[in-house]
Amino acid sequence: MGHYSQHLNTEIQLTRINMSILDIVQEPDPVLRKKCDEVPAVDDELKKLMNNMLETMYNAPGIGLAAPQIGISKRVIVIDISRDGENKNPLFIVNPKIIWKSEELNAREEGCLSLPGHYAEVIRPAKCKLEYLDYNGKQQIIEADDLLSTCIQHEVDHCDGILFIDYLSKLKKDMIIKKLIKAKKEKEIL
Ligand SMILES: [Zn+2]
Repeated sequence: MGHYSQHLNTEIQLTRINMSILDIVQEPDPVLRKKCDEVPAVDDELKKLMNNMLETMYNAPGIGLAAPQIGISKRVIVIDISRDGENKNPLFIVNPKIIWKSEELNAREEGCLSLPGHYAEVIRPAKCKLEYLDYNGKQQIIEADDLLSTCIQHEVDHCDGILFIDYLSKLKKDMIIKKLIKAKKEKEIL
């Protein structure tokens, strides 16, 4: 996972103050199905949003979170695939653009904070190149493989209103959505 760690040093120095944990939107919800807007500038307000998203993701816990998952239709993502016990290694991604995908494919089991309790194997390009603005609004390009590549593609999909269940058979997808609707109804009753 050395491809992307070099430029993160300044980002890790963040003072983690005044962060809040936000509610995570669950499927089905129209905000998860909207194409998100590009961000015009990385300003203090956006940094605050990214800090809160990171805190929300760590708290869940998850390894990636996109803004529509907290009800905000903007092209903003946070990712941290570091393992328990390792130093945190957050990646802040604004206006992501996948500029290259490998022909080689990779199957990996995916889950999603917006589809709690559901997991399925998804086949995606094994590697990708991502162009984006970082926490300081600086343009970056990274090449990712393995888990990071999967995570990036999963989160960029969120910015386009796509969920991992969209890659499954209709039967399997419908079954998961039915269960999520049932779980939401049960929550309302309680
Ligand atoms: Zn997700």
